[in-house]
Amino acid sequence: MPVTAEYHKKGALFGTLSQSATMRHFGDINQAGKRMELMFARPEIETPSGLKAASVSTSIYSGSNFRTILPKLYTSPIETIFCPDPNQGLYCQLLFGLIQRDEVVKVGSLFASTVLRGIKFLENHWQELCYDIKTGRLSDWITDSGCRDAASLVMKPNPEQADLIENICNCKSWEGIVRKQWPKARYIRCVCTGVMRQYIAELEFYCRGLPLVSTSYACSEAICGINLEPLCKPCDVSYTFLPNMAYFEFLPVENYHDESIEMKRNDEDTELVDLVNVKVGQCYELVVSTCAGLYRYKVGDVLMVSGFYNNAPQFQFVERKNVILSVDQEKTSETDLFKAVTEAKALLDPLGFILTEYTSYVDTSSAPGHYVLFWEIKGKEGKNCKELDPKIMVECCSRMEESLHYTYKIYRKRNIIAALEIRVVKQGSFEALMDYYVSKGTSLSQYKKPSCIKSEEALKILDSRVIGKYFSPKSPL
Ligand code: AMP
Repeated sequence: MPVTAEYHKKGALFGTLSQSATMRHFGDINQAGKRMELMFARPEIETPSGLKAASVSTSIYSGSNFRTILPKLYTSPIETIFCPDPNQGLYCQLLFGLIQRDEVVKVGSLFASTVLRGIKFLENHWQELCYDIKTGRLSDWITDSGCRDAASLVMKPNPEQADLIENICNCKSWEGIVRKQWPKARYIRCVCTGVMRQYIAELEFYCRGLPLVSTSYACSEAICGINLEPLCKPCDVSYTFLPNMAYFEFLPVENYHDESIEMKRNDEDTELVDLVNVKVGQCYELVVSTCAGLYRYKVGDVLMVSGFYNNAPQFQFVERKNVILSVDQEKTSETDLFKAVTEAKALLDPLGFILTEYTSYVDTSSAPGHYVLFWEIKGKEGKNCKELDPKIMVECCSRMEESLHYTYKIYRKRNIIAALEIRVVKQGSFEALMDYYVSKGTSLSQYKKPSCIKSEEALKILDSRVIGKYFSPKSPL
């Protein structure tokens, strides 16, 4: 995406406005202490014509302004953010965050999935981290010289602090671990809306007692809106659009399951609506024209107008537009899938199991094709997934089918679609998926797990970790 100096200026203004909304509730955290934010940059590359190219987050972390404020406001040294190995970078960022735990007033990352990745990494490495803090020595597998140099400047043996952290991590339940580990934290900042909403329950468990705040809605293409009610529930968050950030237009989106699916007009025939003319309750696809040179660019996000702040429209994030499962004429959107998964996973909760990750794909290797869901399930308080009754998983398949839309059910009844399948994968499978995408160039800071798998290699990663397959026993209706 093109970026210009003016774009960066808008970014800075956006940051200030977004902070002013959180400041009303949490005070001026810049004065109160430091932020432990997990941040990952990727190396910049150069295009054949000599222009620099980088992910948006990398270009922010590379800016001189960010580098100036970093030591005062953040716990992570710049070397850990630019570490070429994200795992070494993550280990060191957690280490620095723990060493400065008494100063931390805010914990977060850009997206909820990265915060969870950090917590899970802590679950797997806390003994080693505590040992490093106790001895004042950095583990040998951290070979990055930048990280080692940064650590050598601050690390000294601190057995008392190591014991304190160890005692907290040693608890049977990790409920509320973030607040216990960083006792002065006032809130968790990360996007919890859109595809990230699937992580809310798990994050709430680990962060019990701290609000989860989605501060803003932005994309590489344009900066869009801020959340003026940081304390509202993650599922109710609306973003107030800032009309000075880009020229926003909106393409009305019809309901995918409308009777008129087949007759749906082309986007070219649909009139674009200006920001001032959007209607409450209507869904739109976002189209932006920016000072950096994009002209009527479709972002691919579907938003719903939820209200107005003065005259500025507010939007709830609905879904990514093109994430659609389809075997025949039916179309299943990201939201349809989310609703069905939410209904089905409710069967697991009372039995002491949590669905931690899911994704989907359409298997057409045999006719008729069918929907496949990959589920990663975790037992609460040391429970083992092997204890999960297969009958419950079969019921989850049925519940999902019952919760899908009318067209799906009709097609299923007519055997145009075969029985829905859930493939349970072993712990860590979705982390392996994330590692795969990061190895292919995705920025870990901006990683969003696909709701629907399209790549053969990604599919292989999940398929090779399947520990159980379950099918819906009967057609819904
Ligand atoms: P990126 O290309 O990494 O900049 O990611 C931008 C995309 O992330 C957007 O187009 C959205 O799909 C998603 N996104 C960004 N902010 C939010 C948010 N606050 N809520 C939901 N999705 C978001």
